[in-house]
Amino acid sequence: MEKTIAAIATPNAAGGIGIVRISGNDAVSVAERVFRAAGGTKLASLPGYSCLFGTVYNGNEPVDQAVALLFRAPRSYTGEDVVELQCHGGLFLMQEILRLVLAAGATAAGPGEFTKRAFLNGKLDLSEAESVMNLISAHGEQAANAAYHTLEGTLSKEIRSIADGLIAASARMAAWADYPDEIYEEELNYDTLLPEFEEARQRLQTLVSRFDAGQIISEGITTAIVGKPNVGKSTLMNRLLQRNRSIVTSVAGTTRDVIEETARIGNVVLRLSDTAGLHESSDTVEAIGIQMAREKLTHSDLILAVFDGSEALSPSDFSLLEEVRDACNAGRKKAVGIINKADLGNQVSESSIAPFVSAVITLSANDPGCYDKMKQLLENLLGTAEFDSSAAVLANERQLLCCQKAIDALSEAIFALSSGLTMDAVNVSVEGAISPLLELTGEQVSDTVIEEVFATFCVGK
Ligand code: GDP
Repeated sequence: MEKTIAAIATPNAAGGIGIVRISGNDAVSVAERVFRAAGGTKLASLPGYSCLFGTVYNGNEPVDQAVALLFRAPRSYTGEDVVELQCHGGLFLMQEILRLVLAAGATAAGPGEFTKRAFLNGKLDLSEAESVMNLISAHGEQAANAAYHTLEGTLSKEIRSIADGLIAASARMAAWADYPDEIYEEELNYDTLLPEFEEARQRLQTLVSRFDAGQIISEGITTAIVGKPNVGKSTLMNRLLQRNRSIVTSVAGTTRDVIEETARIGNVVLRLSDTAGLHESSDTVEAIGIQMAREKLTHSDLILAVFDGSEALSPSDFSLLEEVRDACNAGRKKAVGIINKADLGNQVSESSIAPFVSAVITLSANDPGCYDKMKQLLENLLGTAEFDSSAAVLANERQLLCCQKAIDALSEAIFALSSGLTMDAVNVSVEGAISPLLELTGEQVSDTVIEEVFATFCVGK
């Protein structure tokens, strides 16, 4: 029998209300050892979806007033009996109430253990469970929307529908191999199977291509602002953050270390680092900053390379452009060339920068209007402009990997079919496409994967 678990479900900070959640067969009896209703009514006598006002006691000492909410299995979040004690949300108070609940017979819940039980009790599939954490950690409206739709089953339905089609085709192929006379040739031939496999592969590829945009919206993209000292990097960063964070001065080399911030620009989340100017320096502190800047350039997925447009490009600007181009060629990075200080006249043409970067923009970081220009450029460049958060979206690398495995296996099936291999051989590849899809939804998944998924959750969820 599963243990009855308990945890503080609200944040680890003082708040108006704090909730201790208890789940398991003994949830009601554990709760009744610490909670007494004002009118003497017993929780055990009530149906699910009831609540009682009363007091939490430490022995006979009252600790806090509380409302106890009762959910009866299977109609609860976890699918088990659940009691939530809603108390005043003081940090000490919550820890004290949790301590009393644990002393009354509950076991401390591990990370994500409530949601894991919901998954194991069939209340959610694995992709829906993963979207719970995405919903909690969403930075913006579209990320929250996408997570909400996944929680509602949009992704599960799409994956299930693709898998169902493949399972039906696989069953037909297996039947044909066993009883060739009973399945008509025209029901099972190249012309009927090929379009089915191609359509399934196309639907999976759509999910994969939407993944990057989804990640940028929910997780953000690591972004490095690079350029010579004094070109306006800090000014631009402050503009994007819409407040003053970096120290802006006209003395070259002021920004010595790497400053990290998160900025939401339209639906794009930039994980920004403003860096020391990229130039040679004899000053040790500044030299460390420059080294960090180079590392950022290597490790960021988006590079904002800033130039002072009021002066002609210098040899060091060109070496920076070459570094940026090489970094982009080496990985899946994107780079924007930003010709700044447009208000001081324009000595730098966009065409001189364009060959080294993914997009170029001329602006003045001093002008508040440059925020909207950057927003439009970034949303288009990163493919988030057309992002439909109500459509099925893959939430993480695990789900992406499952889709990629299924696509590879389908490509093998299509190749085997086109090469005239036997149905048995084609079917091996089709089965190879079905299993990662069932792993994605959690219908066919190892305990290790389940452990890994829930290890990333917070305690109390
Ligand atoms: P960083 O060293 O690259 O971070 O450059 P800063 O952001 O500290 O800016 C250096 C100087 O350029 C400051 O005096 C800024 O006010 C000025 N500056 C930045 N952007 C612009 C701009 O668009 N137009 C003008 N005229 N000055 C700017």
